[in-house]
Amino acid sequence: MAIAAAPILACLAISGSAFAASPTPNLLPAESRGVSQAPPPQPINWDRVTQEATDLLSRYIQINTTNPPGNELDAARMLKEKFLTDGIPATTWEPQKGRGIVAARLRGIGKHTKSIILLSHMDVVPANPKEWQFPPFSGLVKNGQIWGRGAIDDKGPGVIELMAMLAIKRAGILLNRDVLFIATGDEEEGGKNGAGWFVDHEASVFSDAGYLLNEGGGISPLADNKRKVYVVSVTEKTPLWLRLTASGPAGHASDPPAETAVTRLVRALDKLSEYKTPIHVIGPVQDYYHTMAELDHGPKQQLDLSTALKDPEYQNKFLADPSQNAAVRDTITPTVLSASPKTNVISETAYAEIDCRLLPGSDPKTVTSDIKKVIGDDTIKVDVLLNFPPISSPSRSPLMTSIDTLAREHDQASVVPSMIIEFTDSHYFRQKKIVSYGFIPIEVLPAEGKGIHGINERIGVKELADGIQRMVELLKNFGARIR
Ligand SMILES: [Zn+2]
Repeated sequence: MAIAAAPILACLAISGSAFAASPTPNLLPAESRGVSQAPPPQPINWDRVTQEATDLLSRYIQINTTNPPGNELDAARMLKEKFLTDGIPATTWEPQKGRGIVAARLRGIGKHTKSIILLSHMDVVPANPKEWQFPPFSGLVKNGQIWGRGAIDDKGPGVIELMAMLAIKRAGILLNRDVLFIATGDEEEGGKNGAGWFVDHEASVFSDAGYLLNEGGGISPLADNKRKVYVVSVTEKTPLWLRLTASGPAGHASDPPAETAVTRLVRALDKLSEYKTPIHVIGPVQDYYHTMAELDHGPKQQLDLSTALKDPEYQNKFLADPSQNAAVRDTITPTVLSASPKTNVISETAYAEIDCRLLPGSDPKTVTSDIKKVIGDDTIKVDVLLNFPPISSPSRSPLMTSIDTLAREHDQASVVPSMIIEFTDSHYFRQKKIVSYGFIPIEVLPAEGKGIHGINERIGVKELADGIQRMVELLKNFGARIR
């Protein structure tokens, strides 16, 4: 997950055929439902919820879902059992052998209200045990923290979503809308065998959904360490992954021609590295810096970033920070290089893969043609490996109003809509016109934030428990809203 400028690594799309999915009548939206003669809600036993959430996250981390290969099915089954034990219908799918998806539906009493999806992913990025203070798949609970790969990205948030639903069900709180839990696999590799597959094959499960919460935002402390800010991502940069293939005569390196596939490719990459894409401050980025400058007494230039960046001196200073640079322009990053496997052999082809990240509003066709112009060599083939259309969700909605209420009432905090420079599975659901926000109501402390895709990933038991409490409050508030 990402909070403001925290990094998420790139994702690679892998396609594949699907194994049969199980039918899901128990998860489908209900035609009609009666208001039951329910007793008044019971108080929630937060100590019990905290203990249970801690145990669940610890066990969840112990199921190694490193992607590739993912192998999320065991994790999906464990989460399904947890829902079923409390009488919440849940189903798993196996989109490819060993891969897993799980969904559950907590029914509300509203007939015409749009349901909300709580999305998370079960797969994690690799972890090298040699670099970690404690083994990354131990799920160790020590000194008030739960350690392990996925603690924050994204098993912790999944546990928060699940436990909030269980707490609401057990307390007998009746919401005006259904809450759907969906945990997918394969997010870290692009989501084709996870959220992408689910949206393509099982859209009927969430046909009544109008809103979604996912990773991509959360609660951050301000510089004074007293006040907090709720950062909600309403849009993301989109990937445009390209492969450049150069060709030339093959041969022995003792007898080299003047030009080879490798020399052509190197020249092309050199030109690309010199190329500076235009600067463009989109609305959510301008608003984010403005609000943060106001709240955090940041540099006054950030009150109007778009104008401030016209000053070359300030522009240089601002762009020197890689995350800030990525927030205001398309980026072009060569990541993969391949040519001859042998030192003395000149290969016929050489290729490079380029990870471009585009701002919402940038046209992938224009960017690709600009790149071809910069390279200026028609013999180099440019193929698109991955791209999807940039889609944003509105900054105003009944869900944002509920987040704003939570921020004010729970933390005396402000809400800041933003753009994240990484991408998540949210785009699959935004394409289905579902208002999707990157926001999980946990406070990720700066030291913990470094563990996301890094070493010593962990989450505080207190942060986890606070996250569940806030999620319950948020769902109660949003569940009471009609529309
Ligand atoms: Zn993630």
